[in-house]
Amino acid sequence: MTIDLRYGRVPFERPSGCVLVIEDDVAVIRVVERSLRAAGFETVAAFEGHEGVALARNKQPDLVLCDIGMPGMDGHTVLQQLRQDERTRDIPFIFLTGSVGYEDMRLGMRLGADDYLTKPFMPKDLVEAVQARIARHWQVTEGMQVKLSSMMDRVDFAGARRTRKISTLPDRQDLETAVATELVSRDALALPRVVAVVRTLDVERDYMRLDHVALEALQQHIEERLTESTRHSSVPCRVCRLVGFGRFGLVFHFDVGLSAATTALNSLLETLRAAYWLQGSEVFVQFSAGLATGRLGVTDHEVANSVSEDLTRLLVRAETAARPNAGELRQHAGVYREGMHTEQVESLRLDTDLHHAVQRKQLHLVYQPQVELASDVVIGFEALVRWEHPEFGMVSPTHFIPLAEQNGTILRIGEWVLREACRQFAEWHGRGFPAGRVAVNVSAVQMQGADVPALVRAALAESNLDPSRLQLEVTESAVLHDMERAKAVLREVRYMGVSVAIDDFGTGHSSLAYLQQLKFDELKVDRSFVQGMEFHADRIAIVELILNLAEKLGFVVTAEGIENVATRDLLTSRRCQVGQGYHFARPMPVAAVAGVMQSRRPGAYLKAADLAAAPRLQLAQLPQMPPPDAAGGAMPSMDAG
Ligand code: C2E
Ligand code: MG
Ligand code: MG
Repeated sequence: MTIDLRYGRVPFERPSGCVLVIEDDVAVIRVVERSLRAAGFETVAAFEGHEGVALARNKQPDLVLCDIGMPGMDGHTVLQQLRQDERTRDIPFIFLTGSVGYEDMRLGMRLGADDYLTKPFMPKDLVEAVQARIARHWQVTEGMQVKLSSMMDRVDFAGARRTRKISTLPDRQDLETAVATELVSRDALALPRVVAVVRTLDVERDYMRLDHVALEALQQHIEERLTESTRHSSVPCRVCRLVGFGRFGLVFHFDVGLSAATTALNSLLETLRAAYWLQGSEVFVQFSAGLATGRLGVTDHEVANSVSEDLTRLLVRAETAARPNAGELRQHAGVYREGMHTEQVESLRLDTDLHHAVQRKQLHLVYQPQVELASDVVIGFEALVRWEHPEFGMVSPTHFIPLAEQNGTILRIGEWVLREACRQFAEWHGRGFPAGRVAVNVSAVQMQGADVPALVRAALAESNLDPSRLQLEVTESAVLHDMERAKAVLREVRYMGVSVAIDDFGTGHSSLAYLQQLKFDELKVDRSFVQGMEFHADRIAIVELILNLAEKLGFVVTAEGIENVATRDLLTSRRCQVGQGYHFARPMPVAAVAGVMQSRRPGAYLKAADLAAAPRLQLAQLPQMPPPDAAGGAMPSMDAG
């Protein structure tokens, strides 16, 4: 069928529109249906208002013809309901009525009626009215679509052009064009080029407090500085703006090698990191940068395509090199190397997966003995967390703890470690094992972000572990970060009867001053001073100094990282009280620890020598306990990590 072309619409693609007739008079329905069907329309009918509204919602007709006076829901209410519903709001609506007064008509129009047809009507009038309304409706919606799509055409979803007004720099496409033109005119296709990316770091943390106006101003300041310093640099390069706040791409001139580009980039970083003035106050912005080298104009026979592709690849590489690892504050530009991207993808996976590690029961603890050097007695164990990733296997804590500290999951992980270690030791003590104390590492992030005393109280209460059997290991950098808080936390946990050790002593910004300000029980000298100290007079001197200090200030010293007899003997002769290290044992799985303890006579101490003489424990056999008298050869490596 064709429809009125006055409205400029091509004939219906659908042979007919669908008209819903809502009318309580069956005779009228018959006439309407016959007329409309003859003109090619489909019809559906409802005999009262509620049914009509429901049908309109389900069928989505092209038009509704509706009586005003009906039992139950009247025509005005039907219209009102259709206009209130998103699904039916725009369907053309014509009232069919015996007679219509002025007030009724005003009301109908106000509610959104499109037309009135008075009964009795000529079939021709009915069809014309219906056709005209539908055509008009289609014209309007089509017009809106045209408008919408022209608006969409003007919006650049890559974001580059949207922000163009506030940016004085060319965008990436402009840079590609310029580089391609230059390559052709100089006949310099496929020469190696250095490409760099400079980007801001920690956008959320540092700039969250700025509103978008200030952020735009900041972007302009940064761009001005960037333009100025690259313009006056002896190392020429082209600069473009990349999508996102404070991200830029640089393509160095053909003559510039990697070393010169790196130097230039480092000095650019320094310039960009100096303070910005915004709305009367100083703002500092962290930047990082990365470089990558490659050829432009090689992947495609079309120069423009090739430059675009190659440049994109190099920029992505440079950006990868610009991204610092978790917990790293990179001062200098990084250089891309093969495999870097995969590492980052994996790191991102780990970051995400850490959120589920506790709940999915992927974490477990291993325990490394701590030995009283003078007597060789095992006085306790340090609990060390292990993560068995379903895909990557065992992930080292040196790798995932910094990630967990960065994404906040350390709070949950740290709490789990504390509760699990307390539970395990309470169980061993309950079985009469010579387990001694358990030392649990507390991260700097926990010190700041968690109520550590409350966690300790809860873990002790839940496990029923004697508080004197628990030690917290807090790193010196965590203490120094917020001295007042550290003092309060340490005071509170020590008041409960839990002891505190300062971990990794000597690796932070050691300040001897804090040793007298802070009350703690033990100090763990970092293994970097201990390993192989028998060959290094300076290490011996440092450890002796710490031991003297400990004697005066009254704390115990534990030496970490004792790997051989010579180191152990040296430390014993200097009256270092406690030692820990591979020489005694590597961190051991739970079943191995339990096995060694179980093999002792009831009431006997656990000696370091017992660890070495422990029966061979095969992980596959665990958790079966070995017979008490089975003495075996040297202990296999039990480090589960
Ligand atoms: P840390 O607390 O200083 O733990 C000692 C680390 O030194 C352990 O590494 C241990 O396996 C290793 N080690 C022990 N003896 C020797 C030795 O003789 N030679 C050498 N080369 N290394 C030795 P691990 O288990 O890989 O843990 C590394 C670090 O990860 C820990 O250092 C600690 O900072 C962190 N960490 C481990 N578990 C946890 C935890 O549950 N919570 C928190 N916050 N951090 C943890
Ligand atoms: Mg530790
Ligand atoms: Mg340590």
